[in-house]
Amino acid sequence: MPSPIATLRALRADITTLDCDAIVNAANSSLLGGGGVDGAIHRAAGPELLEACRALHGCRTGEAKLTPGFRLPARYVIHTVGPVWHGGRQDEPALLAACYRNSLELARAHGIRTIAFPGISTGVYGFPPELAAPIAVRVAHEHGASLDAITFCCFSASDLALYETVLADTE
Ligand code: ADP
Repeated sequence: MPSPIATLRALRADITTLDCDAIVNAANSSLLGGGGVDGAIHRAAGPELLEACRALHGCRTGEAKLTPGFRLPARYVIHTVGPVWHGGRQDEPALLAACYRNSLELARAHGIRTIAFPGISTGVYGFPPELAAPIAVRVAHEHGASLDAITFCCFSASDLALYETVLADTE
């Protein structure tokens, strides 16, 4: 019998190149594009992605919305809005957990089996990566059972080393 637990893995890549059912975008609340991973996803997906995002009328922090992937190898993009880090006393950890949880729930509702996450909020939004990675891995364990594989897509060598440590600790 197949295992009910998704395979969790970390790799170092540009998330726009990954051929999985869905990639997750660390978007801003307008969903109208930005820098970082958001800009890279919009560039790679083409202008149809911006048109699809306009129709969604934004997204609140911690929530997630789905569009097609257009020119991306991934069939879907799940857009989620991470919290801006203000020192950790404004519910940032719970809001980050909600991003991962709501993205995984949306994936399940659309029959998505393989998904890749960037380090939501850990770029311009300033969430410390060493606090974010254990949250991402915990929520994936708790809410990822309907998927086959969950990839933590790291942009830097230090982020990859961090995820490898966290994943080894939770095996
Ligand atoms: P946020 O505003 O949520 O902090 P950023 O896009 O600034 O979002 O950064 C989120 C994470 O995505 C950071 O770890 C950053 O290094 C990473 N990142 C940036 N571009 C890419 C990309 N093309 N593929 C994967 N990860 C990326």
